Amino acid sequence: MLEKILISSCFLGNKVRYDGKSKAIPHPQIATWSQQQRLVVICPEMAGGLAVPRPKAEIKAGQVLTEDGENVSKAFTDGATQALALCRQHNIRYALLKDYSPSCGSTAIYNGDFSSVKIAEQGITTQMLSANHITVYSEVNLALLVKIINELDAN
Ligand code: SF4
Repeated sequence: MLEKILISSCFLGNKVRYDGKSKAIPHPQIATWSQQQRLVVICPEMAGGLAVPRPKAEIKAGQVLTEDGENVSKAFTDGATQALALCRQHNIRYALLKDYSPSCGSTAIYNGDFSSVKIAEQGITTQMLSANHITVYSEVNLALLVKIINELDAN
């Protein structure tokens, strides 16, 4: 049985980001994994009920706030809960999520001041997945995930 991977929808070219754009990764491994039907796709923010486009949001003191100060934490938590449910449904142990996002970020996110400054924290979905023993990788360290999956496939 091939190891399945949870993946950010925007990585596959879907226009689900807050600004109505995608963030496709032009990496041949993504196409291969897709052909192997091992990718389980989610945009946690859309899964949590947010629209496209939507106001930019950042995490400040544990809450997710838009630039206008609207608290959208519940939608972010709902989306994270759905991402975790998908992982459990498919026995997923690894995720590839878009870095710096307040949902999907893993190596860093923006600091909550809307000042383009990043800090070494995680997005809401990544926090929930990590707390449930699902390891999250991003475009920054994709090569590590490729190595792990290749090793699993070889065994
Ligand atoms: Fe991409 Fe995640 Fe943002 Fe959705 S929530 S647009 S999947 S980074």
